[in-house]
Amino acid sequence: MRAEADEKFRVTYGRAPELVARAPGRIEFIGNHTDYNGGTVLGAAIDRSLWVALARRTDGQWNFSSAQRPGLVRVAAGDFTRRAGADAWANYPLGVLQAFGVLGLRIPAGFDFLAVSDLPPGAGLSSSAAIELASALVFARAAGEDPPRETLVRAARHAENHNVGEPFGILDKGVSGFGRRDHLVRIDCRGPSYDRVPLPPGVHFWIFNPPAAHALVDGRYAERHRECMAAAQALGVACLADATPAALDALQGRVTDAVARRARHVVEEIARVDACVAALAAGNLAEVGRLLSASHRSSQVLFENSTPELDFLVATLIATPHVYGARLTGGGFGGAVMAMTTAGFDARAADQVAAAAAARFGARPQVLHLETAAGAELL
Ligand code: ADP
Ligand code: MG
Repeated sequence: MRAEADEKFRVTYGRAPELVARAPGRIEFIGNHTDYNGGTVLGAAIDRSLWVALARRTDGQWNFSSAQRPGLVRVAAGDFTRRAGADAWANYPLGVLQAFGVLGLRIPAGFDFLAVSDLPPGAGLSSSAAIELASALVFARAAGEDPPRETLVRAARHAENHNVGEPFGILDKGVSGFGRRDHLVRIDCRGPSYDRVPLPPGVHFWIFNPPAAHALVDGRYAERHRECMAAAQALGVACLADATPAALDALQGRVTDAVARRARHVVEEIARVDACVAALAAGNLAEVGRLLSASHRSSQVLFENSTPELDFLVATLIATPHVYGARLTGGGFGGAVMAMTTAGFDARAADQVAAAAAARFGARPQVLHLETAAGAELL
């Protein structure tokens, strides 16, 4: 893909790029909707990425193109007007530039920009974080800045929340930014602070992505966000990460049953993240798998951000040999299921799961076999 980024850049702009960066997609391993509640989350950077190639210009012009999008988006440097329709994708890199300004970083005066990706968008693998992080790396270098990785992640988050308009947490950007091969990234979202948890050898990841529309931006994500904030307020805590499971009883009669269930999911999910780290340290993958499946059940029943397709895939996977556990990954309301398996779960086994889903729902999920990978990097 590096070669493809160079080649597409030449074809589009008639010259070679000066800078190329790669940022990976991510799997949310466990910690569903814990991030914006100040909790902890575990994610893995994956071996599917988005590359950004860039060369500077001196005429005050910002040009954006993507191998996965038609046309060229031409912007006069400094014009942050939100783009609509087919050009809307450019709001991600534009949002990063705007965030640089807010964070006190210089921005390049002019450039040609090209994105190339082997990361399926809308599969819950966070192609949006990948485009933000890869953009942030090339913009910083082109402007002569060398900010710490934490700052690049902040810029990415700012870009998504202020430009795209959803109250997303730090998970996607933090994992794309801090990923490492054969590790999970643990984020304490309150800081936020980042560390890495080694994965025992022999762990495999599979993604099953039903073709159903995934629609985070239809307001249900924001609704869950509001429900969580309402629960925290009723409990008198700054965020749900400050509440204990025992304290949740105090919600009885003070908030709706739905809000109380959202809170229980978040508080118990944060405890599952910690239990998962302990089980990984002990090399107890069976326990890790059990926690993954319990996480799904909680999303399904308490947080209500699953779908019948995702529930079916999880149930089918859990009943399949060599599967440690499975759960929905990402925001939910569509998106994808992740399974953690031994090497014994192979393409044939995956095919049978996909075929069962196709027989039941009339459409075959996309299947991806993924490995962990390094986080965002300048190449
Ligand atoms: P995801 O779960 O993949 O992050 P999102 O809806 O959050 O899904 O982000 C997908 C958006 O990211 C796309 O609609 C597009 O605007 C942008 N994007 C992702 N990949 C590319 C790409 N290769 N080229 C241009 N824009 C992209
Ligand atoms: Mg996204």
